[in-house]
Amino acid sequence: MDYLELAKCYDNLEKTTKRLEKTEIIAELIKKAPKEVLKQIMYLINGKVFPIYDERKIGVSSKIAIKALAQTTGTSAEKIESMMKKKGDLGLVAEELIQTNKQKTLFSKKLTIAKVFENISNLANMQGQGTVNRRVQLISELYSNASPLEARYITRTLLDVLRVGVAEGTIRDSLLWAFFPKMVSYDKEKQEIVLTGSRDEYNELMDKIQHAYNMSNDFSEIALALKENKLDSLKKIKISLAKPINPMLAIKVESIKEAYEILGKKVLWEYKLDGFRGQIHKLGKNKYEIYTRRLEKVTNQFKELIPRLEKHVKGDSYILDTEFVGYDPKTKRPRPFQYISQRIKRKHNIEKVAKEFPVEINVFDVLYLDGKNLMDLSQIERRKILEKIIKEEKFNIILTKSLLTENQKEVEKFYKESLKAGNEGLMGKQIEKDYKPGRHVNGWIKLKPIKEPLDLVITGAQWGEGKRTSAFSSFTLSCRSDGKFLEVGKVGTGIKEKDAELTFESLTKLLKPLILKQKNQSAEIKPRLVVEVNYEEIQKSPTYSSGYALRFPRVTRIRYDKSEKNANTVEDVKRIYTKQNKSLI
Ligand code: AMP
Repeated sequence: MDYLELAKCYDNLEKTTKRLEKTEIIAELIKKAPKEVLKQIMYLINGKVFPIYDERKIGVSSKIAIKALAQTTGTSAEKIESMMKKKGDLGLVAEELIQTNKQKTLFSKKLTIAKVFENISNLANMQGQGTVNRRVQLISELYSNASPLEARYITRTLLDVLRVGVAEGTIRDSLLWAFFPKMVSYDKEKQEIVLTGSRDEYNELMDKIQHAYNMSNDFSEIALALKENKLDSLKKIKISLAKPINPMLAIKVESIKEAYEILGKKVLWEYKLDGFRGQIHKLGKNKYEIYTRRLEKVTNQFKELIPRLEKHVKGDSYILDTEFVGYDPKTKRPRPFQYISQRIKRKHNIEKVAKEFPVEINVFDVLYLDGKNLMDLSQIERRKILEKIIKEEKFNIILTKSLLTENQKEVEKFYKESLKAGNEGLMGKQIEKDYKPGRHVNGWIKLKPIKEPLDLVITGAQWGEGKRTSAFSSFTLSCRSDGKFLEVGKVGTGIKEKDAELTFESLTKLLKPLILKQKNQSAEIKPRLVVEVNYEEIQKSPTYSSGYALRFPRVTRIRYDKSEKNANTVEDVKRIYTKQNKSLI
């Protein structure tokens, strides 16, 4: 099948914002696709050549693409760069250059989808030094046979910026439309779908496709199964090791009462931890894979956990759903997610970072054990299995703290206890439900305090000690009250040092010209700089002049767009405090 068919499809997708139209465009392409290229098409439609959980990336830099374009078209790299600056999109530049290419040989052959797929996959598999020329050659081969439109999309795919805007749901629907054409058609004029059978029947089929996708996270596999034998083959797509499963998610509720209204009486309550989701697959002795909520593989970044899992979890093979919670190695207090998030993308110094930012594995579910799929078991049965297979040890691996009760007062106590321990709130889980990937009414709920970030003014700062004497190490935050500023807290550790703008040094630089007075380590600062602050909770406080204090404040950004006159007022703080303490039952 010609790549031009796919390029036209991208072009059509780009021209519409309507979801149903996009579904129809992709469905038509799938209908036309022979079995041999169906797999490739399902990856390429989203600008990929591997399933989403595969860590190999196409990862061609614009520099290499420019080199290949220069080589193919005889245009200088400098000229291409300046064209790119003007157009802002190398895809459009490639299209124009191929259009006007004077070097086009008479021997150029039609590009097939298989050829484009092959060259791009080879690029992704090529790592390391000394591969530049080979990469340029693979790309040039594509460019020299490409039509202008094809060059546009080849370039965007190479640079991983395809952006034709197809969501997972759209691809799922288009598979249904393509393989069950008798069931559904699209009325272009009215812009609506026409069903031959009932809506329930249609939804049931959709659920089946979605279920298969939840198990495989690979539309190619699903498309091939449907092509082969419609629904029968789909059933064969099962949970398997080393293939991450879409995680089950929760619906937000505002109160314990609302949670019971949604879930009924039988609810297993658990601490809602502020870490990040770790899906652990044990394939065999010392053989593991770990995935994030977005299904990225992070096994290498967390390899220090493997001996721990070997020692503390029974089972030759399993899939556990867990939360990795960071803690301060000195104080042993839980650390907010931001601290450990940097471990996810780490490539170097992994051991050092693992020591500085240790995590405790908090296990809350098991989906597979020794060859058996457990997703169809009830929540409470799965929890019981967990209790049997995990030997808990604090700061190492534990089960999430849980409570099974129908008493709302007890839940409220449990909730406060969870917040006090530095967690986000509670999760409520219907005990009879199976494990169902995605967000569902009647499955899991989450309850956390209503948090509105506050825009506060820095009115004071304290110089650091030891190595940090040249910069401020903590800042006093204030809210507005009738032209005055009243203190609501201090922030020190809650500075996101990862963000270049939010380091102690950069804040010191901004605040130095605003120093009004200094005494010992403390400086009084002219109220000018506004920062956005997140926090766990607001408490009453006799210490600060506003009468309130923020628990665990964290500065998230500088509000250059706001002056001190736009900062939040003490009334705002009071309003949030009251709302937060409203009865939950
Ligand atoms: P949210 O990100 O606010 O939608 O909350 C869902 C996330 O909470 C999940 O993806 C988990 O990473 C996390 N989480 C924390 N504690 C639990 C728990 N006990 N059970 C399930 N998920 C949890």
